[in-house]
Amino acid sequence: MDSNGISTRGLGAALHHPRHARWTRLPLVVLATLLLAACAHSGPRNPLATWVPSKNFDERRPVVIVLHYTEQKSVEQSLDTLRSRNSGGRVSSHYLLGKDGKIYQLVSDSRRAWHAGAGRWGAITDVNNASIGIEIDNDGKSPFPDAQIDSLIVLLRDLTQRLRIPPTQVIGHSDLAPTRKIDPGPLFPWKRLADAGFGLWPADGAGDPPPGFDPWLALQAIGYSVDNRTDTVRAFHHRFRGSEGTELDAEDLRILHALTAPAATPPR
Ligand SMILES: [Zn+2]
Repeated sequence: MDSNGISTRGLGAALHHPRHARWTRLPLVVLATLLLAACAHSGPRNPLATWVPSKNFDERRPVVIVLHYTEQKSVEQSLDTLRSRNSGGRVSSHYLLGKDGKIYQLVSDSRRAWHAGAGRWGAITDVNNASIGIEIDNDGKSPFPDAQIDSLIVLLRDLTQRLRIPPTQVIGHSDLAPTRKIDPGPLFPWKRLADAGFGLWPADGAGDPPPGFDPWLALQAIGYSVDNRTDTVRAFHHRFRGSEGTELDAEDLRILHALTAPAATPPR
């Protein structure tokens, strides 16, 4: 689990090292508060190294946005789940979107929320570390109201601009964990998001792929793991066709070709 960066060894050393002897006259709670403040300011330090701080840094930035549905009854229920200890383990997300379009933030953008779990997207294996998680209040069976998607688009515009996340790097939980997850599900309106400029979507009229086209390489080039091909094709169908299916067909090959073919060179 995430450490808050407070080293117990550091606390012990401060209490027992002669150089800090006069500090021990301070009440322990005051001393702990001072040390906590110092660590919170500078972040965790490696005891192997001499600390020679530089001011030339900023917060880490996520590079992908992951969309989920909550599969719960209400936004109130999800607010509780995402902020408490659960029997199945603690989970969270950076944002939660109500059906009315209200945007809740639960974790700072620069912190690592626990929303993705095990999975992979391209070369990213610790997706929580590299992503922003957005939970969408939805029971997994109902359409997503327009107000909710309108809000999502506003939030995506903010996040991609402010955090400089590529707008194409908006994916579903099922894309990164196809063997375990199906959210945000086949009803999620990916085409609407694509029309607003977010997520991958095939250009019209790409035509048939050339002979020898390898759809599995294309899936990997997009970011999918193909360790379990059946589950990956199901996730791909949910994402790009809004339908069920675990076998690739001719339309899938056209979509994969359109998604991975180099852009045509404009005429001179
Ligand atoms: Zn999810």
